[in-house]
Formats: sequence, structure tokens, C-alpha cells
Amino acid sequence: MGLRMTHKERANKLLKLNYHCSQALFGAYADDLGMDLKTTLKLSTCFGTGMRQGGTCGCVTGAMMVLGLAFDFYDPQDQEKEILSNKKTDEFMELFTQRMGGYIRCKDILGVDISKPEGMAKFRQDGLKQRICINALYASIEILDQMLQEQGIEQHNNDSDVVALLREEEMQSAFQRIYKKNRFRKRARQLIHETDKDISFIQFDIRRFKVINDIYGEKFGDEILDFIVGKLTDICNERQYFVNLRSDVFMVVTEQTKEDEIADLVERLAVELGEFKHVKLQYTFGIYTVEDKDMELRQMEDRAGMARKSAKENVMNNIVFYKEQFKELLYTRRFIEENMQAAITEHQFQMYLQPKYSISNNNIVGAEALVRWKHPERGMIYPNEFIPVIEENGFIRNVDYYIWEEACRFVKRCFVDGIEACPISVNVSRNHLHGDEFIDVLEDLIRQSGIDKQYLELEITETVNDQQISEMSNRLKEEGFTLLMDDFGSGYSSLSILLETPFDVIKIDKKFMDNMMVSEKGKLILAQVVLMAEKLGLGLLAEGVETKEQVDVLRSIGCDIVQGYYYAKPMPAEEFYELLKKDRMQV
Ligand code: C2E
Ligand code: CA
Ligand code: CA
Repeated sequence: MGLRMTHKERANKLLKLNYHCSQALFGAYADDLGMDLKTTLKLSTCFGTGMRQGGTCGCVTGAMMVLGLAFDFYDPQDQEKEILSNKKTDEFMELFTQRMGGYIRCKDILGVDISKPEGMAKFRQDGLKQRICINALYASIEILDQMLQEQGIEQHNNDSDVVALLREEEMQSAFQRIYKKNRFRKRARQLIHETDKDISFIQFDIRRFKVINDIYGEKFGDEILDFIVGKLTDICNERQYFVNLRSDVFMVVTEQTKEDEIADLVERLAVELGEFKHVKLQYTFGIYTVEDKDMELRQMEDRAGMARKSAKENVMNNIVFYKEQFKELLYTRRFIEENMQAAITEHQFQMYLQPKYSISNNNIVGAEALVRWKHPERGMIYPNEFIPVIEENGFIRNVDYYIWEEACRFVKRCFVDGIEACPISVNVSRNHLHGDEFIDVLEDLIRQSGIDKQYLELEITETVNDQQISEMSNRLKEEGFTLLMDDFGSGYSSLSILLETPFDVIKIDKKFMDNMMVSEKGKLILAQVVLMAEKLGLGLLAEGVETKEQVDVLRSIGCDIVQGYYYAKPMPAEEFYELLKKDRMQV
């Protein structure tokens, strides 16, 4: 807690200076709320008089003020805030009443009525302030700290002294954040109303900040955030303000005269914030230019936020301007989040299988398992719609486990029915790769279904050279799994990652192949990739093959395994089962 006093210490000091409980409580939080102590004492005097009439304990009124300010509730139009604010107030009342043995009125807690002179005399004489009021104060502070902490920061469930200290510090940093946010909003409001120029909000965050934290450690992550704050302080002029909203999310508000001015600013941010200690940093930007200056500030911020989120889902574009249709996207996101759990329990997720063919003998040599979501009302939902959302919230793990289990079940069924099975490849979201729970899950699935490991292949999407993924892949390899590098050629580090990670098969991405097919030079590159794979002893598969011409080119350069609409689209497992049965009879 450093040099700063704790809330209890401050409250106690104020109580000893003869301030009453609501003043002591509110005053203890003055600093954290960005308020001047004198003002809090004056305000709480007015609100605290209720108790002198024998009414509610002043700790309650004091706490209401702290909560109200901390949760920034002032706007009757902001229903979400109102609900939160009411919930928090109720929560406090309940906990406080419990701690006070069921009482909340001053005279019940004290056992004397200080609105009467004789009661006041007894209160003084018996030193009830230091005996009873202090307990009510401490109880309030404990409850408030807990509630504010839950709101502002992740909770620790360990209760050692070290953690208690840490909590205090984190609490204070949570408060500082609230304070800075409020300051930013105050300035933004001022700017909006003072100027007749356009105003834009730019919200941005670091692409794959989680991954950076995982690789380089959280301390390095914090250094990056400090670096950004420093740079923003330099970059922003007197008509531009910024705030660090949470974690790696920043907001800038700026005045602008011309439309391309905003693009220039974003460009400058991307460049100046683009590298820290030799680590390249990429950002996603969401921009909202204010159309109606009377709109609620929070709504303006939200729109910049929506634009940022949509930029996050878009690999091709890292800058997105808000348009009305983003509302639509937000609804989709909410729909997914509200329905995903039921989708698992009600078996709405289904495994589709897309065959892989050998060009030379026209036989099925494998299949890829692809998830489909069949919603009873909305119909079929494709992975591109819901996977980005559930990857962000981690739910993808459950979906993957489900599909892996289905894939094992399918292979087992073939064996039981006496049909020669083919390997099924499943997608492994990068979400799994930062821990090793998924390896246990895979091993369990293999053991339970009793199938041979070679029938469950793993598709991993190549990404930037990622140490952790390489390590994890090495482990999978040691465990005897076959690894397919998905989407080869869609990124830029495809070649170097091959050195680090022991893939068995390269899946050439559809876009890469499409690009290469249009020119002679491209075909030459493709042929080189085939040669390289051969030299490295890697298997090769071309994805998204749609035309006969593509098949011919692939055949001519020696790429034999293909997957794509030209041969077959992904189909329900049942349909693939029939297809496989027919295929095996031909052999
Ligand atoms: P992916 O792994 O690259 O899968 C290939 C995608 O290309 C599939 O889209 C497939 O239907 C489509 N495709 C196959 N052949 C052709 C073709 O000839 N032409 C065209 N235009 N498209 C073709 P789908 O099923 O919509 O899946 C999209 C992506 O969603 C997948 O890309 C994969 O990244 C992800 N995904 C799908 N199922 C799962 C899953 O169970 N788990 C995880 N983690 N990701 C999944
Ligand atoms: Ca795949
Ligand atoms: Ca792919």
C-alpha cells in the first residue's frame, strides 16, 4: 500500500477529528474518487443529517455516495448503468444489514436515540462513537472495498497477507482508472461543446496482446502499456485527449477539420506505437465521428468500441469506421453468447465432414471435420459467423472437444461396421495451445473410443512464429499425433514456422492457390512449394479446389491430395458414411 493510508485508517482519522460516520466514510474515499476532501465532508454533512433524526445509519448514506460516484451513475437514459447501480446498492444494503445484526437505523444500532438531547448525552458519555460507530464504518469499508474490487479488477481467492496488500494496491489502481476515465469524459464533453469542428473518437487495442503477454510475460506487457501512454502523451495536442480504458484498450478523442486528418492521425499512431523493444505491435482501430453532439458521451464511446470489435474480427482490415450496420453485428454477438451453452446441451452443434481425395486414383483418403450450428429458429449458422466470437470468450474449447469426440465416434463406427476408415482431421483452435489440458482430452478420447491415434489428425493454423505453439506442437508430435499446418500461405511466416514446428502435412490455403493460379509465375511458385514439401518429407494437400483447371495444374506439379467443392462439399457425417462405404466397395 506504499505511502498511502488505507480506507480504514483514513476513516478512523476523520472519526477522531470528530467528523460523523457518513463524513468519515465518504471522506475516506475522496482521493480515490478524484474529489476534494472538503467537498466530500460538506456533502456528507447534508446527507448525514437523516441519522440525527434517528433515521438510517450515516454509513449507509456515505456508502451510497461512494457507490454512485464509483459507478458513474448520473444519466437516467442509461438504463444499463441504472440497473447496475441499483443492484450494487441492494447488495450493499443486504451485506451491511447482515453485519449490523439486522439493523440499519442509527438508534437501533447504537441503542440510543441521538435525536434527543439525553440520547446524545449518553452517546458521548459512553464513548459509543469509538465503540460502535467504528464497527459500522469498518464493516462498510470492507463491503465497499470488496464490491469495488469485484467490479474493477479480477479477484484473488487466496487470503494471505501478501494478497491483502496486493488487493489494496489493485484497489487503488482501480480507483485511479475510474478517476482517469471520469477526467477523460469531462474533457471530452468540454471539447465537444466548445468546438464547432468535427469530433472523432478512436478506440484501439493491441492485436494478440494476450499472446504477447503469454510469450514475453506480463511485466513486459505492462511496459508496453506504459510505452503507449508515454507516446500518446507526446502525440496528443491540447485539443486531443486519451485514456486507457482497461487492459490494452485505449480511447482518443480528437477535434478535426478535414476527413483525412483522422486517417493521418491513425496512421501516425500505428507507426509511432508500432514497435517496442524490437517487438512489432499491431493495432485494431475503431473510429466514430460524432454526428449529433447531443448524443450521450457513452454512446459515442460505444460506437467507437463497436467499430474496433468489428476490426478485430476482420483480418484484412485493421481500421474500421463506425456505421449503423455495426449494431447488427453486436446483436449477432449477443445472440451467440446467449445461446451457445444451450447449443451444446441440446446438440445443436453438428459435425460435417468434407472428403479429401487423391487426384491420381480418385479415392477418398481422409476427411476434415467442420462444425455446423443448426439453431432451431435461426437455421444454419456457419463457423465464420460464430467462431470469432467464441474464440474470444473461450467457449470454442467446448465446441472443439465435442467435434473431436464426434470424429472419434465416427472412426470407431467404421471399424465396428467393418468399413475401412480414413483419418479424420479436426481443427484445433489456437485457444487451446496455451495450456495442456487439451492434450489430456485428446488422449482420453483416443483411449475411450479405442481407435488408433493415426485416425485423428490435428489441424493447426499457422501464425506468426510463436514459441509456445511450436513447443506444444512438439509435444503433440511426441505423443504420436499427425499435425497438419492449416491455411499455409495465408500469412507471411509460413516458411520460417516450418523450421520450428514439426508438421507432417501442409494444407495450401485456398486464397494462396487462387492467387498463384492466375499467372505463370504463380504456378512456378506453387510448383516450388510442392518441391520443397517433398524435400522436407512433408505431405501436401490443396484446399478449396473448385475447378477442373486447378486439378490439372495440381496434378501437373505433383500435388496429389485435394479438398474442395470440385470433389465434394462438407456434408453431414451420415452422408459421408454412405459415400465412404461406396468408395470402399469400388476399391
Ligand atoms: P478451414 O479450417 O480453413 O476450413 C475450410 C473451409 O473452407 C470450410 O469452411 C470449408 O467448408 C470451406 N471450403 C472447402 N472447400 C471449399 C471450396 O472448394 N471453395 C470454397 N469457397 N470453400 C471451401 P467452413 O466449414 O465454413 O469453416 C470455416 C473455418 O471455420 C474453418 O476454416 C476453420 O478455421 C473454422 N472451423 C470450422 N469448424 C471448426 C471446428 O470444429 N473447430 C475450430 N476450432 N474451427 C473450426
Ligand atoms: Ca481446417
Ligand atoms: Ca484451411
